[in-house]
Amino acid sequence: MAIRIEQNNIFLSVRDLVKSSPAAEFLTSFPLPQRGLLGKNAQTKVQQARQKHYGLFHTEFTVKQSYRYRNYTFHIHGRIDGVYQLKHRYEIEEIKSVILTPAQFRTLRIEHYPHFSEQLLYYAYLLQDAFNGIEVRTFLILFNLTNNKERTFPVVFNRSQVEQRLWQRFSHIIEQIEFEKHRLKKRQKLLQSIDFSLPEKREQQETMMHAVAKALRDKSHLMVSAPTGTGKTAAALFPAIRYAVEQNKKIFFITSKNSQQAVVAQTLQPLLDQGLPLKAMMLTASEKMCLNDVYFCHEAYCPYIKKYKERLLQSNILPGLVNNSFIRPEQIKSTGRAHELCPFEISMDLLNYVDVLIGDYNYVFDPAAQLRRLFAARDYGDWILIIDEAHNLYDRGMQYLSPYLERRQLLSLLSENKGKKSKIYRDLVQAIRSLDAVFDALQQEGELHFAGHQYFVTQLDNEKLNDAFQQFEAAFVRYLIHKIRTRKLIPDDPLEDFYYAFRRFSRVARYQDAAFVAYYNAQDEGILHIQCCDPSNYLGGIIDRFHSVIAMSATLDPMDFYADVLGFPDERTARLQLDSPFPPEHRKLVIVPDISTRYKDRQKSAPQIAEIIKRVIQIKEGNYLVFFPSFNFLQLVNLFLGHVQSEKILQKPGMSEADRDEILTKLKKEKGSHLLMAVMGGIFSEGVDFNGEMAIGVIVVSPALPQVNYARELLRAYYDNKNGSGLEFAYIYPGMNKVIQSVGRLIRSATDRGVVILIGERFADEAYNILLPEYWFKNKGDVEITSNYTESISTFWKTLESNS
Ligand code: SF4
Repeated sequence: MAIRIEQNNIFLSVRDLVKSSPAAEFLTSFPLPQRGLLGKNAQTKVQQARQKHYGLFHTEFTVKQSYRYRNYTFHIHGRIDGVYQLKHRYEIEEIKSVILTPAQFRTLRIEHYPHFSEQLLYYAYLLQDAFNGIEVRTFLILFNLTNNKERTFPVVFNRSQVEQRLWQRFSHIIEQIEFEKHRLKKRQKLLQSIDFSLPEKREQQETMMHAVAKALRDKSHLMVSAPTGTGKTAAALFPAIRYAVEQNKKIFFITSKNSQQAVVAQTLQPLLDQGLPLKAMMLTASEKMCLNDVYFCHEAYCPYIKKYKERLLQSNILPGLVNNSFIRPEQIKSTGRAHELCPFEISMDLLNYVDVLIGDYNYVFDPAAQLRRLFAARDYGDWILIIDEAHNLYDRGMQYLSPYLERRQLLSLLSENKGKKSKIYRDLVQAIRSLDAVFDALQQEGELHFAGHQYFVTQLDNEKLNDAFQQFEAAFVRYLIHKIRTRKLIPDDPLEDFYYAFRRFSRVARYQDAAFVAYYNAQDEGILHIQCCDPSNYLGGIIDRFHSVIAMSATLDPMDFYADVLGFPDERTARLQLDSPFPPEHRKLVIVPDISTRYKDRQKSAPQIAEIIKRVIQIKEGNYLVFFPSFNFLQLVNLFLGHVQSEKILQKPGMSEADRDEILTKLKKEKGSHLLMAVMGGIFSEGVDFNGEMAIGVIVVSPALPQVNYARELLRAYYDNKNGSGLEFAYIYPGMNKVIQSVGRLIRSATDRGVVILIGERFADEAYNILLPEYWFKNKGDVEITSNYTESISTFWKTLESNS
């Protein structure tokens, strides 16, 4: 429910009022992913037809009224689908869509849809009060999506009966509010018995906890850069939990990798075991939760979604699941299997019952995957958002907003569908051709003005794109209904894939500012891109709707850069930069300069790099990690490395988390020395711990600068223009961030010791090494740049041995 309560004022919509019925609470899920689109289209269709025929017909008619009930004032608002404004009366319509067979539709009774009628009658009640008791007649229009038929049902509006029902609803809402107040008090009392103490006291962790608590109290955001080993997860979570219980808020903890979610769960579980009065749930993507043979969310093909809502109510599984303090995906999956109900839909239906959610960034920031059930309203003031490893949100944000359309896909759809006789396919083909005309124009533009260029920046013809999209969407809706009616199973349907790609593209195309650049790649039949150079407006728009956002990372440096690109508002954002909890003497850092790691010099430098690796691992036996900017560079150096004393382990592209865990176990348990060669930004360089002897040294070969390509150069040009820091924003900052993350794998606890070797002339350049964290060094700027690295490293190990 999106009900807002301010002292004794309750603000809600007519829909909220109807949803406040206990029976209706479960009826919020749409089993088909496209259900919302189908319903909206049906509604528009009916409204447009009415408007054409009746001049007195108004759509989306807004009504607002306030009512005093007991100690509260209810402020109700709503929008009526259709209103006929006649001389002495109003006639109003509520339009709803259903998916039924023609026979079912012919015989349906209005009593089957009591909530539809109830919503309509409340509109009538409000309207009557707004217009001095004028007569109002009410009609429910049901539109059947499977055969495009509509039926109109007059609904009797009896004011005193509606009023009685309205008071019942008010009464129920007040009971819920009182119950919540009581529950809150109980929870606050229980909170006092929870032991939040941590196994070891770390000054940095305490500082962070205070800063988080303050940000929550001030209703502001906090950006925290805290080295690995600080204990960031607990430092963010513990104060957030306290605040959430005290102030009746909820927490959404988002991560960019699944492995980080496990850490959150481990941190939370001991508190829940003590009786922490909160419910937690871990969210997993629908593909991973799927129980069906094919991932195809359609009533006709998936038994787990068939009559889902009805069967969910009958099964009564939600209260059982909610009884668990921590609802985990495996549990939901096994319950779903036992009752033949879709686990992902179950998790969606549980959203309103949990206080702590753990999931991926996508659920909050991806326009295509955002949890609309939670974030449909514009104000997320009931939620505290914690973003783990927040530096990753920059790339993710750009990905969400950088769509593309491939002409190859269009041509393939045309050749598959152009011979089909049905009007639906003819209309689809027509719409695709309209889009293809946009590609034709681009091709001509290229030949005329950019001959010989693979890429060129272009101005999008939004009018034509929009027309093509609307044509396609109109035909696509009929296509979906046709699929439902004919029970046509097309897993990975190319038309559906194309629709979603086109929709994403059309949405982003509406952003008309310098941060979005459209460009064309003339190769491979042609690809039309929109490159988002700066996601800050979009991300910041979401961030600022939360009560507070805690963005933390081991590498949120330079913080000005991340605050800028993630869109944190200056006036509402505090910043915290923490030192490492471990002394710099535990780590020896050496920069080996005079080796060029530039792309053009790599053939020449690979043998030298291999030699450095060999020498470093000879100085002291143990496990070493070597990080490269790419798999190609890794392979090249490996060729020259040949046989070494340690067992070599090479990361391969596409390695799974299970593969990684196997290697981690090997490093942890197996005796002998290992040399793990991996890439920066991959599964071994972030969100993973190499405690104790799992790694005694990290060698980083070159900053992991993003590849120079047309899209990156657009970013560089954008930031050059915006703040004169194109090179830094597009290349150096993201590249050095990956270096710092990789080095962060070393020194995870107070007993860890190790060496760090940064290879490459760029590291000797101040533009790069100025970005190395200060806590790495005993004194500020204390960077050791030497070709005589063996001596420095040997001395470090010897000193340690003699001190121990
Ligand atoms: S079980 Fe799988 S196919 Fe069926 S609705 Fe759920 S996610 Fe979709």
